Amino acid sequence: MTLKYRSILAVCLLALAAAVQAAEGNVSVDFNNAGVEAYNLGEYDTAIGYFEKAQAGGGDKEVVGRNLCNAHQNLAGELAKKGDFRAAARHADSAAAVDPKNMSPLVQAGAYYLRLDEVNMAIERLEKAITVKPGELTAHEMLGYAYYRDNDLSSARAQWDYVLEVDPKRPELQDRYDKAFREQSVENDFDKYKSRHFQVSYPAEIPSDLRAKVIGILDRAYIDIGRDFGGVFPPPPIHVILYDAKQFSEATKTADYVGALYDGKIRRPLADGNGAWLPVEEIRRRLTHEYVHVVVKHIAGGNPPWWVNEGLAETLSRPLDSERIHALQKLYREGAPEALKSLEATHLGKMDKDAVGLAYLQSHATVDTLWSRYGRGKMVMLLEAVGRGQNAEDALREVYRKTYVSIERDVANNYR
Ligand SMILES: [Zn+2]
Repeated sequence: MTLKYRSILAVCLLALAAAVQAAEGNVSVDFNNAGVEAYNLGEYDTAIGYFEKAQAGGGDKEVVGRNLCNAHQNLAGELAKKGDFRAAARHADSAAAVDPKNMSPLVQAGAYYLRLDEVNMAIERLEKAITVKPGELTAHEMLGYAYYRDNDLSSARAQWDYVLEVDPKRPELQDRYDKAFREQSVENDFDKYKSRHFQVSYPAEIPSDLRAKVIGILDRAYIDIGRDFGGVFPPPPIHVILYDAKQFSEATKTADYVGALYDGKIRRPLADGNGAWLPVEEIRRRLTHEYVHVVVKHIAGGNPPWWVNEGLAETLSRPLDSERIHALQKLYREGAPEALKSLEATHLGKMDKDAVGLAYLQSHATVDTLWSRYGRGKMVMLLEAVGRGQNAEDALREVYRKTYVSIERDVANNYR
């Protein structure tokens, strides 16, 4: 199961670049003005080249510096729109370097690093942003979110406390704040264990051999699932929080049939409602399932439709065994499988337990068909396309030359 988290991406304002009037023959002024011309045509790369020359030639430090900063910021915005967050972050960093008193490129860089799951890099930029301009609510809110992602719940709440004090009606923040508060009250005295890729928080009652098994399962999933996607390895630390059944429901407030979830952190009860530790194979399956969500989010952000996300998590964490194949045959021969389009539009949280079970099964079968017939390359392309903000059905049509209806037919033919 995965929860969608609203991502905060800084809005980059198109600021006007300033031309400079000066006596003819001043080379640096000419470069600046050529840069302004390119900037106004939206040719930011060219503009950057001119502004850098103007800067090197000793042009008006403030004006040229600001122009160069704006050009880098706008180029960063364009690159982010194309899904190239790595290059976008680099340009936002360059913008911050040429105009160090400007908070906006720091917030922009912070947002891109968050999208890249480079939480420490994001924290560094956002802490600088609130030093440059204390009291800027977006920067404080985003810094709180970065601390939250780093599982530093008390620092997160300190930032959000401040934002809510100034602006109590901040959209969605109160919910996020309450969620962090709930989690903090459950996880306050949890122990921590750090492996190369994971930071695991857990209650002291978990036996050490079980904890060691969990770490082993996670480290294995990191390699196996990363390879399944052709080499996708999100940066550390990936946060995993283990609970008993009661703690899990207190911290997450999910329905009792939810076995684990990923909301930017893997959350997983290790014991059932009676307090018995779950079998290792079941823990392996569920942790691997959740880890697939980590990789999908790293490729595509929060954008993929849930059936793609869950279908991938199921396909890569458990085979379609005879029991599930039998259930699929029953569904496609006798039942009325829901159209992908309406499945996609229905919120998982709005379905009852049986409907969720069928929806997962159908998603599993659909993604399994796509994955086994066309390979991982196309699936990664699909994820990258929705990660850039493309509508999922358009992306499917482009990558697979299929519509939702035709892929539904293919899946149904497999099980009739
Ligand atoms: Zn899931």
